[in-house]
Amino acid sequence: MFIGENDKFKKFENKIWLSSPTMHGEELYYIKKAYDTNWMSTIGENIDVIEEKIAEKIGVYYSVALASGTSALHLAMKLAGIKRGDKVFCQDLTFAATVNPIVYEGGEPVFIDSEYDTWNMDPVALEKAFEIFPEVKVIVVAHLYGTPSKIDQIRQIADKHGAIIVEDAAESFGATYKGKETGSFGDYNAISFNGNKIITGSSGGMLLTENKEAAEKVRKWSTQSRENAPWYQHEEIGYNYRMSNVIAGVVRGQIPYLKEHIAQKKEIYYRYKEGLKNLPIKMNPFDKENSKPNYWLSCMIIDNKAMAKQVRSETEALYTREKGKSSPTEILETLAKYNAEARPIWKPMHMQAIFRNSSFITREGNGRAKTNAYIKGGSVGKDGKPLDVGMDIFNRGLCLPSDNKITKEEQDEIIKIIKACFN
Ligand SMILES: *Cc1c(COP(=O)(O)O)cnc(C)c1O
Repeated sequence: MFIGENDKFKKFENKIWLSSPTMHGEELYYIKKAYDTNWMSTIGENIDVIEEKIAEKIGVYYSVALASGTSALHLAMKLAGIKRGDKVFCQDLTFAATVNPIVYEGGEPVFIDSEYDTWNMDPVALEKAFEIFPEVKVIVVAHLYGTPSKIDQIRQIADKHGAIIVEDAAESFGATYKGKETGSFGDYNAISFNGNKIITGSSGGMLLTENKEAAEKVRKWSTQSRENAPWYQHEEIGYNYRMSNVIAGVVRGQIPYLKEHIAQKKEIYYRYKEGLKNLPIKMNPFDKENSKPNYWLSCMIIDNKAMAKQVRSETEALYTREKGKSSPTEILETLAKYNAEARPIWKPMHMQAIFRNSSFITREGNGRAKTNAYIKGGSVGKDGKPLDVGMDIFNRGLCLPSDNKITKEEQDEIIKIIKACFN
């Protein structure tokens, strides 16, 4: 499959990861502290400390440490009062955990297309969605790859229509918009400590809110909804969603390194930007004036004119080699060949088999009407740009190896490999 010029590179001896846990030693100290004091369950000092520190860092009053970001989003859906058949506006270009909790509660996601400035929810498409479904009361917005969305405009639209916002800040902990932390803009917000995130607990997540009553409900629901009684008394359905004090120890040891991790990720982003500047590609964009990303994943998108042919089925991809051009598939396969992990852009939710029947709204309204045209990649809006922005980014973009521990030399080598793909 690989032709001449791509064979001049050496395979990386140690695999270069997309984004793996980066430990510092303090994590062990707090794990051991939990062990030595026998607070090995879902109560303990580590939990109390990280709840306080992270609420303070993000600038919200209340936080509840949970088993995962997904469980935080699930309980956010319950707080939002989603019932069977309720429609919920949800960012289309995201990881599936943004949307699954809507479905856990019986809600029906309506997917909102992205825009090109931040790759997040397009406020124009969101406004269109309210024209079509004025009854909707909940919006789920994410900050993809650590880049803040146009959250001010989304908040304005939400307020205008009396809707609440659930903010999925799982990928963007530490990123700010107009000086304010992501995870503080929504009514109910989630962050994640999954192994690949900017800081990790090995797993874990947190719900953040300004609403005391909401935080208390989440505390209760996450520990099996026990009522205040001498026996197990239950008046609501409960969940086993609380974070372990051992996991909280890992998070506690990582918190002092959030700043350092962001600085490393930023350096990685700008090294790619500089190293790839002569190629017909762009790095994932952000609003330089108003936002500071946490640069969680560095991504690139190939200019239209430099896209070599690539076709993707539901589970497989093929590409052709063309002089001066390349494709995400060629770059992904080439990097993998040399033992470096890159990844496709998250495949848009409206294109997932499981959500084939869900509504999808673009900046010109109902996007499903033109599904066949999208599949052929030919649908453009009145402005001449692709109408299905999420699919366009998926087709032309990819996530680059962004591990905190990548060395300058390794990154230079990755840049050379990418360049060779365009030869
Ligand atoms: C990781 C992630 C989640 C889920 O967090 P977990 O802690 O893995 O459950 C949710 N949304 C997005 C956008 C994510 O990247």
